Amino acid sequence: MSTERLFEGPPLTRVDDARFEATVTAVERRAEGVALELDRSLFYPTGGGQPCDLGTLDGLAVRDVLEEGERQLHLVADEGAAGWEVGRPVVGAVDLPRRRDHMQQHSGQHLLSAVLVREHGVATVSFHLGRELCTIDVVADAVAPAVLKDAEARCNAAIQACLPVSVELHQGAAVEDAAQTLRKRPDAKALASERGLRVVQLGDPSAPLDRDACCGTHVGNLGQLGSLVILGSERGRKGHTRIQFAVGERAVAAIRARLDALDEVCLALNTGPADAGERARGLVAQVSEQAKALKRLEQDAARAEATRLAAEGSPWRVHTLAVAGPKALTTFAQTYVSAHPGGSLVLLHAAERTSLVVRRGDAAPEAFDAAQLLRELLEPHHGKGGGSRDFAQGTAPSAAAAAALAAAAEARLGELFG
Ligand SMILES: [Zn+2]
Repeated sequence: MSTERLFEGPPLTRVDDARFEATVTAVERRAEGVALELDRSLFYPTGGGQPCDLGTLDGLAVRDVLEEGERQLHLVADEGAAGWEVGRPVVGAVDLPRRRDHMQQHSGQHLLSAVLVREHGVATVSFHLGRELCTIDVVADAVAPAVLKDAEARCNAAIQACLPVSVELHQGAAVEDAAQTLRKRPDAKALASERGLRVVQLGDPSAPLDRDACCGTHVGNLGQLGSLVILGSERGRKGHTRIQFAVGERAVAAIRARLDALDEVCLALNTGPADAGERARGLVAQVSEQAKALKRLEQDAARAEATRLAAEGSPWRVHTLAVAGPKALTTFAQTYVSAHPGGSLVLLHAAERTSLVVRRGDAAPEAFDAAQLLRELLEPHHGKGGGSRDFAQGTAPSAAAAAALAAAAEARLGELFG
């Protein structure tokens, strides 16, 4: 026997509306708990992008509400329902705040999708109602911020106008006529359903804002949405854009969270919300200029240090650069070699990892091979790199390896040069 779908009735607004009496018509013991079938139910089962209702049956928590074919099953814990049998009368209570939240997000989605396609020709292909985020995917490579703002304003105007939301059920021959009036044509299965075609309409019947086939739960009046806010958009799968939005209490919570984040930024920048963007842009530009100036200074310092050391004319040298980016390392090596072509060099720099350059001087002994020496030095430190007999470079994954690498290089060059 199929369950009478009380959840398709009028919207729930008061706690009393959320209670109902029913009789257990089937009891199934399953691994995940006891699945109960009722003769009638106010619990909306998971479906159509909307999560199920939760609540209680005779005080026992309902963990999940599933639809399996024509059957609707309420999943409860084993322990509580141990003695439950077919024929037991039960009192059900739907968790009203959860249902209200779902009705708001879901009805808000109808409204947003309707406005986007009517005013901007942007069609919705799917809807997701998550615990925190609600999203729709629309057919567009991108949706301009101006379009999103316009759609948001139009949605809130409809909410302020408290436009009615009504539900119709069409049967038999009337199904095809009704289908012609909808925003999106239902699939063949929905059109052939024995239960008929359920149509949700936003706005006055004489000039509806939207008509769509839907089995979900909705508010009775758009005023009950409170407000709708679009939180952002991002590129979805090919040719689609995902738009995030929130309705009702979720909208207020989302705006609150953004205001709190903005307050943090203002506090850090020592400015007010109106100036925060300009102040942040100014700081970013300043930091970028300073980074460029620092790079120039590092290059100059590397050049000066290399010139000074090259003038000493040592046959070989192991040197660790104290402050330098990777570019200064190359500058140092190039300056050193051109000033002192005969001198061999092992150059190190430790930052997040240790960078290493080995250069064979023209006056080095035959046995000196830069690439081979680099491999020997890096091998115990699991480093990577390579090069030729004259020049090689590589890195060791840790900065801590620098001291050991420098000591090993000193010892090896000492041997090579006798
Ligand atoms: Zn709906």
